[in-house]
Amino acid sequence: MTTNLLGFDLAALADFCDQLGEKRFRATQLFRWIHQRGVGDLSQMTDLARSLRDKLARHAHVQAMPVVSTQRSADGTIKWLFDVGDGNLIESVFIPESDRGTLCVSSQAGCAVGCRFCSTGHQGFSRNLQTSEILAQLWHAEHMLRREFDQQERVITNVVMMGMGEPLQNYAQLLPALRAMLDDHGYGLSRRRVTVSTSGVVPVMQRLSQDLPVALAVSLHASNDALRDHLVPLNRKYPIDELLRACAAYQQFAPRDFITFEYCMLDAVNDRTEHAHELVALIRRHAASGLSVKLNLIPFNPFAASGLKRSTSQQVQAFASVLLDAGIVTTVRKTRGDDIDAACGQLAGDVKDRTDVQQRMASQRQAMIGGVPVVALSDGLSVGR
Ligand code: SAH
Ligand code: SF4
Repeated sequence: MTTNLLGFDLAALADFCDQLGEKRFRATQLFRWIHQRGVGDLSQMTDLARSLRDKLARHAHVQAMPVVSTQRSADGTIKWLFDVGDGNLIESVFIPESDRGTLCVSSQAGCAVGCRFCSTGHQGFSRNLQTSEILAQLWHAEHMLRREFDQQERVITNVVMMGMGEPLQNYAQLLPALRAMLDDHGYGLSRRRVTVSTSGVVPVMQRLSQDLPVALAVSLHASNDALRDHLVPLNRKYPIDELLRACAAYQQFAPRDFITFEYCMLDAVNDRTEHAHELVALIRRHAASGLSVKLNLIPFNPFAASGLKRSTSQQVQAFASVLLDAGIVTTVRKTRGDDIDAACGQLAGDVKDRTDVQQRMASQRQAMIGGVPVVALSDGLSVGR
């Protein structure tokens, strides 16, 4: 087995070169070939000495995961399904907008948090993705799109860790991937343009604030602990007050002057105006310790096993009005693709229960016919669900 170079940030790649008895600075050349030029074939890296290329070829390779399907919607959104082995599929979504191109990236196959309203959560947890599997999503998407659009400069300007999985429960593999995204020799994205979304893994939020404080989105979804315990079971470990204190602490290091709170609107569960008033009180209480938030209301993408329903648009508006009247910046995520089951992790979830891998793949391909499930955000943290 040779090493997949997609699994390294620049420092680790320099260590790898060192171990091969090569100069560390060779890693920069190599890193640029891979991430900036999208070249995976070592023999094509023509400014590297042949002897180095030959040595590398004996020890290393560059490889993304097999693509099971590429779905496209009329509005330009593209969704890829990757096969990460043992019957596990993960997804990435590209959402083009006039001023940016956002890629929504997965961090795990399945998820252990088990939120009630999330189809990835209903699947259960399969495994953490490796750094190479996180970065390969960006590598594949960026360079495929550049070729397709015949474009030299970057197509993906923003990354959101909002695909399948809880990124902060896979921190060791996430961190080098984030570093490569930010590296000037890699994708050169600013910290503002890389967002980690979390259900609230408090101690790891603290570590991220010290290691690499990128933009943060927190999946709140409830205005009190009893409700959040039920919807986001991780709340039993890190309750709301503790989470909001961690957000205020993160904000001191964050690249934006607010933390985004995501709130999935569930009919008659968390969408009443009483909840909105409770949320206002909660946010005000923590504003005193320096917390500044932007609230993003997400219409629920329904799936049968959840037994939950999407809030009506009147209810969403009424809820948003309470927040706006209280001076809290609030946006409502635009949705599309309802007709084709757009919920989080839904396509990959559909095939999860079957035992035979081939059967899963065949049925997955079958399920693909028909279009792309899409949700786009109104505010730039664009994401497909
Ligand atoms: N695990 C992380 C990131 C992935 S989920 C997190 O929970 O933040 C990304 C976002 O999609 C979260 O805000 C999540 O609550 C939301 N989401 C999950 N399932 C959804 C559904 N069925 N409808 C709408 N939003 C959903
Ligand atoms: Fe996991 Fe996020 Fe889904 Fe919750 S919403 S189950 S944390 S992926």
